[in-house]
Amino acid sequence: MSPSRKRRVAPNQLSARWRSWGGYALFAAALLLLVAFLFFRGPRRQTYGQPWLEFSGEKALAQTQKLVDFGPRPPGSTALKDARAYIKEELEKVGWQVGLQTFSDDTPRGKVTFVNLIARWPNELSRGRLFLLCSHYDTKSFDSIKFVGANDGGSSTGALLEMARVLSLHPQLAAQVELVFFDGEEAFNGFTKTDGLYGSRYFAKQLKKNGAAKRYRGGILWDMIGDRDLTITLAPDSPAQLARDIFTAAEALKARSHFTYATSNTLDDHNALNEISIPTIDLIDFDYPPWHTAGDTMDKLSAESLQTVGAVTAYYLAEMAFR
Ligand SMILES: [Zn+2]
Repeated sequence: MSPSRKRRVAPNQLSARWRSWGGYALFAAALLLLVAFLFFRGPRRQTYGQPWLEFSGEKALAQTQKLVDFGPRPPGSTALKDARAYIKEELEKVGWQVGLQTFSDDTPRGKVTFVNLIARWPNELSRGRLFLLCSHYDTKSFDSIKFVGANDGGSSTGALLEMARVLSLHPQLAAQVELVFFDGEEAFNGFTKTDGLYGSRYFAKQLKKNGAAKRYRGGILWDMIGDRDLTITLAPDSPAQLARDIFTAAEALKARSHFTYATSNTLDDHNALNEISIPTIDLIDFDYPPWHTAGDTMDKLSAESLQTVGAVTAYYLAEMAFR
């Protein structure tokens, strides 16, 4: 056979060969596209389960009772020190690492030492931005009445301990959250630039000083969230996106009727955070007749109210906060 004959291929065979090459080329192109797609679409959206179903209003109420059992808890008191030890122990029990931020400040009653508690998840993301969940755990000082602050100081702190338990079941979510328990929210006399909000003002000042405010994407502050007759009012100066998302979360959990807009702004621990550009919303029910009276006791609270605020917050965290 001559070489030329050997290479001679019948026309129909030639087209079959081209077809087969074409097939390979098509296959290779498709594979390349698939690889490119997988490479460029980035990481999948992280999901965090349904922590809002695990938040227990009953457990939050039981934690609130524990705090109230310490008695009045004004800054610098033994009762507050004991409450602080209890909070720390409860957090550590479910895996959080707790730091104490101790400082002293001038007050109308002289120098007072305050202690904020800051809890982080052990393998917290080193580069991710954290979301803050906050409550104040002190109660207002009164000389003439026994003020145990079941709702004011108690409810939000008890609920935050329950949230710590729920988040511990979702380590991926917990790793992006910081829990802060502020001391000295209450003013000794009345709120001024130098009386009241001691803990949050100091916390924010430290973040500003060490340039760490950028590490936080936002925050939610809870205050007085246990009233049986629950209406959480969002202040007009609330960060707009956060307010919209809270309403959406409430809607999703059929709790929308418990949330509305307030007509005026509230002076509370979220102010110091907003001032250093950490958008923080205050979930507060200020329509509470026993406010700052001896009547702020456990019988005014309900597990359902704590459940509502806890679940809406957990829903926001899992579904919206880290989009
Ligand atoms: Zn108060």
